[in-house]
Amino acid sequence: MPDGMDIYASAIERLDLAARFSDAAPETVERLRRPKQLLEVSIPVRMDDGSLRIFIGFRCRHDDMRGPAKGGIRFHPGVSRGEVMSLAFWMTFKCATVGIPLGGGKGGIIVDPRELSTAELERLSRGYVRAVVEAIGPQIDIPAPDVYTNARIMAWMMDEFSVIVGKRSPAMITGKPIALGGSLGRDDATARGGYYIIKDMEREQGWAPPTTTVAIQGFGNAGRHFARLVDADKYRVIAISDSRGGVYNPDGLDITKQIEVKATTGRLDPTDGDEITNAALLELECDILVPAALENVITRSNAGRIRAKVILELANGPLTGEADDVLHKAGVLVLPDILANAGGVTVSYFEWVQNQSGYYWTLVQVHERLQEIMVREYRAVVALAKAKQIDLRTACYTTALNRLAEAHESLGVEKDFAPVEETTPKRATENFAAAR
Ligand code: NAD
Repeated sequence: MPDGMDIYASAIERLDLAARFSDAAPETVERLRRPKQLLEVSIPVRMDDGSLRIFIGFRCRHDDMRGPAKGGIRFHPGVSRGEVMSLAFWMTFKCATVGIPLGGGKGGIIVDPRELSTAELERLSRGYVRAVVEAIGPQIDIPAPDVYTNARIMAWMMDEFSVIVGKRSPAMITGKPIALGGSLGRDDATARGGYYIIKDMEREQGWAPPTTTVAIQGFGNAGRHFARLVDADKYRVIAISDSRGGVYNPDGLDITKQIEVKATTGRLDPTDGDEITNAALLELECDILVPAALENVITRSNAGRIRAKVILELANGPLTGEADDVLHKAGVLVLPDILANAGGVTVSYFEWVQNQSGYYWTLVQVHERLQEIMVREYRAVVALAKAKQIDLRTACYTTALNRLAEAHESLGVEKDFAPVEETTPKRATENFAAAR
């Protein structure tokens, strides 16, 4: 079974790059190179036919110096130790990029949930919580949904955790059903976060909807909501796609109808334009290209053919590092995933805050607070990129690393602990006296 450590090795290349532009102490960078905790567990599940199956699960807390770790739980056959570590690492940097007081975590189980009955899935979800219970909690590490996990699974997990600790604990997990403590506005938060960045860029880019064109790969949670939001603002959405392929219409698609058809038939409406492949969609001439499906869709082999002016990465990791270089040189502005899709984790943070206070916000309050964070952090990243002459991805990682360093280094670094010179006070008490 591949352990995915190659994925982790490439994930932390970003750390080394950011370290070149950050004031972080070398020992902070070294600390962030490895996760704080990685748990591998076996989860016995009694199947409906009476047999026992043992599933392998993971929970990783990469860093929690800025706050409890936060990150989803993935149910997928391809889950591996290295993948979970990489995703936790990205969560650390995503939360720090947008400045929310949370660290990075992630979990997963090696399973194809489509092969399980609902009752088996419930036993597996509850078993996972029992197996990792000491590593999670409202002030330790707060899970959320990820690939093939959903609000009901979060509810089972919250219920199991509450039984174990003997008290109702909604803040131990996010992405719950609204009736059980979920936040309003979580459903479209990822798309909305990206949309607020696009709105903030409008004037500077000279965009004038309806002449501004948008192509979106993926019509699930992220892609569909993004299409709806920009369509409502009269942007011209010229192409959309799902796993079966896409629809293209240079005059603009009927997004309301597409959403309706997709919801009722599970497919896009092909009568709205011409068929287009997912590969060709990426190469369309447009103002804004939004990869909102899979990772690694723009690589060295197709990066040279991308004709979009701006790429908004709603998906995680849609560009390879090599593609990034090609696009940067070609002057394509890439809004990187750890900023562009951070609206999701930001509203998850709001959910955690609301659960702890027991006071629930209106949808308008959620939107206002999300917009404030997304716009502020986008502008800060742009300012840093200009000041350091770096691309936005490097600027995001540098921003995050600076914030992480501030937290880690508040506890002291080598210069605070190394033997002091003869001429300066030696004892800690004398140091304090000198400081006063
Ligand atoms: P989803 O399952 O709701 O939708 C995925 C969409 O991608 C579907 O329309 C599916 O048909 C399409 N798709 C699948 N295979 C494809 C292929 N080969 N080519 C083109 N399209 C394909 O998932 P989602 O929640 O929208 O997530 C999409 C991306 O956004 C993922 O990378 C995810 O990690 C990232 N993301 C999502 C959130 C969130 O809150 N939902 C948060 C952060 C990042």
